[in-house]
Amino acid sequence: MSMSETSPKVVIVGAGPAGCTLAGLLAKRGIDCLVFDDDKRPDLLVGESLIPGVVPVFRQLGIEDRVAAMATRKPGASFFVTDGGPRLHFSFKNVEGHLPPYSYNTPRPEFDNLLRSRAEELGAKFVSARAELETGTENGEATIRLSARSREVAGLPEEAKPLLIDCSGRTRAFARAMNLPTEKGERDDIAYFAHYEDFDHDEVDPGQVIISVLRAGWSWRIPLPGRLSVGIVVSKEHAKTLGSTAEERMENALRQEPLLAEKAKRARRITPVMTYSNYQLLADRGHGPGWVLCGDAFGFVDPMLSPGLFMSLVGAQQLDSCLFAHGLAILNQPKKLACALNKYSARIIDWHRAWQELVRYFYDGRIFRIHLAGNNLSMKPSPFNLASRMERHSTRHIASMASGGWTRSKYSRGLMKMLSRYLVWDVPPAESFAVRANWQDKSRAEAA
Ligand SMILES: Cc1cc2nc3c(=O)[nH]c(=O)nc-3n(C[C@H](O)[C@H](O)[C@H](O)COP(=O)(O)OP(=O)(O)OC[C@H]3O[C@@H](n4cnc5c(N)ncnc54)[C@H](O)[C@@H]3O)c2cc1C
Repeated sequence: MSMSETSPKVVIVGAGPAGCTLAGLLAKRGIDCLVFDDDKRPDLLVGESLIPGVVPVFRQLGIEDRVAAMATRKPGASFFVTDGGPRLHFSFKNVEGHLPPYSYNTPRPEFDNLLRSRAEELGAKFVSARAELETGTENGEATIRLSARSREVAGLPEEAKPLLIDCSGRTRAFARAMNLPTEKGERDDIAYFAHYEDFDHDEVDPGQVIISVLRAGWSWRIPLPGRLSVGIVVSKEHAKTLGSTAEERMENALRQEPLLAEKAKRARRITPVMTYSNYQLLADRGHGPGWVLCGDAFGFVDPMLSPGLFMSLVGAQQLDSCLFAHGLAILNQPKKLACALNKYSARIIDWHRAWQELVRYFYDGRIFRIHLAGNNLSMKPSPFNLASRMERHSTRHIASMASGGWTRSKYSRGLMKMLSRYLVWDVPPAESFAVRANWQDKSRAEAA
């Protein structure tokens, strides 16, 4: 056999969660793949809070027990509004029946290391090097290939033409190299985050993630083993008023925000403060001749509902099942391959749209109105207890959408629309619970 016949037919760029999951799933099918990784992962990474929709992927990879050993079990998520606003508690018990009724909060990069070692155990090969890329065109379409140096590092002969899969995360190696058009999201915020010890958690189940709508922006609190991950997300304009360094901005936000100040009183920061910006983006296409995008390299979703790792893991799972359910034969059947790639891309774009739609209910305050109206309604007597049954039905659908189970479901999305338009009597306007770009002294209750 010539060298090109034995060389890997699939090359993945980036060994983050998307790249390692895909490599593991392909290796499980006995498909040879090679993963490039530049080993540039920082010691502290966002992407710690997971939703139940990722647990079936852990089971498929055979790693759920190992994830459980390094993580905190997450029973649900709570959403608080500052200044005496509503508090909304979602339990994943609501999704039982079609998804596991729990998820995990995992420290990264330990989680990435686990995914990588599992992929290696299953037979995937990794190269510690940055993939260098060269672009061209074929029949008017942008193409991309590995540079001669990268091929040499990977031991790929000149004539080999592997399918190249971009899992390079927010680096978006292929989209940048080919200058692919992208769609930017509505928000352009900035996030600061760090780990703390002795940061008091609120009176919720241990492991429950708390998202707070602050006087300016919003925050996350994610319980990890022995520490709390705390992040604040604010407009760039407001960030400037908080100080000149990331540390100052984080500490001032914690001091100023009523929902966090009391809890942070004894807290000790045990990591540097990391900064993230520009986190809503979607490439307008997911594939081209010989290349595919997966995970954040395809698009990234606003992190408020923690859909990022779900999109990376489920995106990898979708790519694996759309393309490789019958092995590598599809790579020699151009029509079938194009059809499978179209299906994959359309599905991922649809996922992004559904997440964007859902997250909007949380940003603009409609979710709290639905919750308050539902509470009011369920307390009123009604024939056959219809009102409280309706409330339970709606809660199940909203929780399932936020868990990755019914996010794209037409019925669930329609129900949310209907609830937010027609079933919200005697409750304050949505704006009183919305995430605000700038500091508001006036309490929300007064504003309402
Ligand atoms: C503020 C914020 C908070 C978030 N919180 C959450 C959360 O709570 N829960 C959640 O699920 N998600 C969250 N996310 C999203 C989550 O972090 C990402 O969706 C996830 O990490 C994407 O995984 P990935 O594998 O696609 O990319 P990455 O994790 O970025 O991995 C890409 C890898 O490719 C490597 N690489 C890049 N270029 C090259 C190259 N040319 N050659 C070789 N290697 C290369 C990189 O070094 C990296 O290791 C958050 C995001 C932000 C911005």
